[in-house]
Amino acid sequence: MATKSTTAKKTTTKTAAAKTTTAKTNAKKTPAKSDAAKELKDLFEDSLKDIYWAEKALVKALPKMHKNATDAKLKQAISDHLDQTKNHVVRLEDCFKALGKKAQAKKCDAMQGLLDEGESIVEETQPGSVRDAGIIAASQKVEHYEIATYGTLAAFAKVLKEKKCLKNLLETLEEEKTCDELLTSIADTNLNSKAK
Ligand code: FE
Ligand code: FE
Repeated sequence: MATKSTTAKKTTTKTAAAKTTTAKTNAKKTPAKSDAAKELKDLFEDSLKDIYWAEKALVKALPKMHKNATDAKLKQAISDHLDQTKNHVVRLEDCFKALGKKAQAKKCDAMQGLLDEGESIVEETQPGSVRDAGIIAASQKVEHYEIATYGTLAAFAKVLKEKKCLKNLLETLEEEKTCDELLTSIADTNLNSKAK
């Protein structure tokens, strides 16, 4: 009996090993490297169109946020970031140029949603520190979306060896991160003074 069971076990192991070998062989057949590179390039360009739309939408939305904010530091941060955002648009246009493409915007539903949320917060609050806290919260969601997007785009540009794009995307990524950190520190001060 003991011998039989050992034999059965060995057979099972052999079958599993055979399956693994088959899987490996199939994986080797898959590559078609040039197709994957082309697909990644398409995805990269499509995502650039998305964020290009988003940055242009932000250029329009930030003045409204500025108008509705009360805290002097918050107002300053928003107007400084508006200047940077205008430059983010220009950097993206440079990316399209480097790729030999016309700068094209494609509606970014995610950014539209975040901006709608920001507008609702303003509508539902009174001017002052609570509205400011809401504006900071909405702005940080926008910055986090941008950080995620630029991080991914920079990774794509690196793989695709698009050096000019990579440089521009990393520069913008750093500015989005700095803006996010500044908003965090303004939120801390704002909420602390409110609590007191
Ligand atoms: Fe931006
Ligand atoms: Fe930003």
